[in-house]
Amino acid sequence: APSVVIVGAGQAGADTAAALRSRGFSGRIALVGEEEALPYRRPPLSKGYLGGTAEAGDLELLPLSSYGDQGIDLVLGDRAVRIDPEERSVVLDSGSRLSYDRLVLATGARPRRLPVPGAGLAGVMTLRGLADAAALREALREGGHLLVVGGGFVGLELAATARKLGLDATVVEVGPRLMARALSPGMSDHLRAEHVRQGVRILLRREVAALHGDASGHVRVAELDGGERVPADLVVFGVGVRPNVELAAAAGLEVGGGILVDRWLRTSDPAIHAIGDCARFPSARYGRQLRLESVQNASDQARCAAAAICGDPEPYEAVPWFWTEQYALRLQIAGITGGHDLAVTVGDPGGGRFSVLCFREGRLLGAESVNRPADHMIVRRLLSAEGVPSLSPEEAARPGFDLKEYRS
Ligand code: FAD
Repeated sequence: APSVVIVGAGQAGADTAAALRSRGFSGRIALVGEEEALPYRRPPLSKGYLGGTAEAGDLELLPLSSYGDQGIDLVLGDRAVRIDPEERSVVLDSGSRLSYDRLVLATGARPRRLPVPGAGLAGVMTLRGLADAAALREALREGGHLLVVGGGFVGLELAATARKLGLDATVVEVGPRLMARALSPGMSDHLRAEHVRQGVRILLRREVAALHGDASGHVRVAELDGGERVPADLVVFGVGVRPNVELAAAAGLEVGGGILVDRWLRTSDPAIHAIGDCARFPSARYGRQLRLESVQNASDQARCAAAAICGDPEPYEAVPWFWTEQYALRLQIAGITGGHDLAVTVGDPGGGRFSVLCFREGRLLGAESVNRPADHMIVRRLLSAEGVPSLSPEEAARPGFDLKEYRS
């Protein structure tokens, strides 16, 4: 039987191993991860884990025993440092070498840091892994003032958690609105209003110019563009990520804004797949290349790669979806709403339960739902149907319209 090596034991890597076995793949599977912890879910890191309602053990994707039961060789705390595509082998930091017939790169992404003076002070952090979250959880216990740089979902979840824990929080965002990459302007405003209501200071179109520390080298003050000084006992950069492409690039695989793959998630070497946060793939649905950062994308691409490895290739066409939780606000996004030319709100925005349906040239692109899980599921199903989704903007704008009419 052929042998599969998976580099990166995060969501995408661990799901690939499990999907291979559930398809009956009987060859050897090695799952290599540089982190020490058993493969875990990242979403709770900025939510329940930081807030103290979930512990590290609660985040594990699978219990340790099931790797043994399924014959998955877990190699943790070791890093793949080189791929030899001619010889079809991967060299690890420990010196061992693993041969493969098929290689899956699921290396994820790492946080960007801004080259701001003072960024090296103690108390300046990023949040990606369990180790970061553990350090942050400890630092949040100290109380004081949290400064989040970047108004994306990780930073906003962190601000919400900090408020729950009783810290002061400021979010500095260089753009004109929050979560601009993922959300329609109306939804960004709704989110901002909620944060302001909860006592977070949101500064838009502002930048951090420098960070200043105390005598012990711990950050205490952030200086913004224009000179304003903001207290900052803890600073977290939430300014996006960079895909981990270096291993692929060094092996001569095509990269550019991610590891480049085709519709079957194969890299420029057909024996090597790339999936999850590190991969940039062509989307027939959206007519362009995408690199998505979500559990949905990591898991669905894992299943897609496993199918191809088992000789049952299907192009990757899954409907993207995403969620975030801030305070009591559960926001779910179906499809990709960016680039819409018309947004129709349904439900009860005042009561905090509504959806924004986004259209482009009369075609449904996706929806953003706040505390309306049924809407979210219906839109996902509408988008997954063959051809053009049947819901028109005129229909959605009809007084009394309810998405439930489209529940099949
Ligand atoms: P990762 O989960 O990052 O896994 C990649 C793994 O590969 C890492 O463990 C890394 O150490 C390892 N690795 C990299 N290079 C090597 C190497 N050379 N050798 C060995 N190992 C290597 N998504 C949602 O849909 N909803 C949410 O609410 C949500 N919340 C999030 C909150 C936080 C704080 C974060 C950080 C992310 C969140 N996400 C959320 C995004 C989601 O977690 C990611 O999209 C998902 O984890 C991507 O899976 P992945 O396997 O591609 O990458």
